[in-house]
Amino acid sequence: MKKYEIAVIPGDGIGKEVVPVSLKVLETVAEVHGGLKFEFQSFPWSSEYYIEHGKMMPEDGLKTLKNFESIFLGAIGNPALVPDHISLWGLLIKIRREFEQSINIRPAKYFKGLKSPLVNPNDFDLIVVRENSEGEYSEVGGRIHKGEDELAIQNAVFTKKGTERAMRYAFELAKKRRGHVTSATKSNGIFHSMPFWDEVFNVVKKEYQDVQTASYHIDALAAFFVTRPQIFDVIVASNLFGDILTDIGGAIMGSIGIAPAANINLNGKYPSMFEPVHGSAPDIVGKGIANPIGQIWTAKMMLDHFGEEELGKKLLDVIEDVTNDGIKTPDIGGTSSTEEVGDEICRRLKKAV
Ligand code: ATP
Ligand code: MG
Repeated sequence: MKKYEIAVIPGDGIGKEVVPVSLKVLETVAEVHGGLKFEFQSFPWSSEYYIEHGKMMPEDGLKTLKNFESIFLGAIGNPALVPDHISLWGLLIKIRREFEQSINIRPAKYFKGLKSPLVNPNDFDLIVVRENSEGEYSEVGGRIHKGEDELAIQNAVFTKKGTERAMRYAFELAKKRRGHVTSATKSNGIFHSMPFWDEVFNVVKKEYQDVQTASYHIDALAAFFVTRPQIFDVIVASNLFGDILTDIGGAIMGSIGIAPAANINLNGKYPSMFEPVHGSAPDIVGKGIANPIGQIWTAKMMLDHFGEEELGKKLLDVIEDVTNDGIKTPDIGGTSSTEEVGDEICRRLKKAV
């Protein structure tokens, strides 16, 4: 019996609605598999916790989380109670940084039963590997002079280690998929970092002779996401480029409520964290209509991370079938509730596996 210990942080808003539904789905996955067991331990760390305790999580919160296989997170943020910079930096960003989650991955695919804004959405299935710890989002730089002469200098930091790490992850992932990696560059306009990025890409790709590659400047690449996303399998991108591409990825699928994400720790010292792209959605809290697919697909990414890719694929197939048969929440044109979608996924999982 394989056992996975998972720390669960439902967090704020609809996180508390979609997480329980997703845990039910994971329990069903374990049940039908037979040789798998998930042990969930739930932590109430959230904006409400902050109001009561003056912090988003206890002092030894990270120490507690460190012992788990992974972290399954709903959403953090309740701007009416706690300013975003406190809630995000006090929990989400703290975990990402301290646990060296240096890669962010976000898939986007043509989803049956969803209305993509694309003219030709058929059959795209891609995943963006975003460098998550350095690059353009650096604190190096500053502002000098005052008045008319004032200026700001922003440096980007690309280490060989960090760049290689992201690229190797992309190639390893591509080997398990369709064997193609696209590099997002801008070496025709950015003088130092992007030629370096290209150089590292050209070295790393030599280690993966069986993987095909392409390299596009980010402007063209972003356009291709809209005009022909079918050409992509795995895309590796810097922190800023990846940030932009993953938002486009969510947009071309047709709804933010279904988009999943993972923050991956690569050195094995700390757990990885799985959280959907959407936030706490204060506008629909308590109505029972939050789309649980983003969170459930995120659970699927956690299964992949555990090496249970076959199970993950089955789960995604079931989610897509349920959506295609019209059992959908209102954000994607249906009339079903959060629970109804979750229950239907569980019911079909029992039949499918
Ligand atoms: P945060 O600061 O936590 O990211 P936000 O307001 O910026 O919050 P979201 O919480 O993602 O962003 O909400 C954006 C919009 O998408 C809202 O109108 C929300 O209701 C809708 N939305 C987000 N997630 C879902 C979901 N799972 N199901 C249905 N609608 C959703
Ligand atoms: Mg937001």
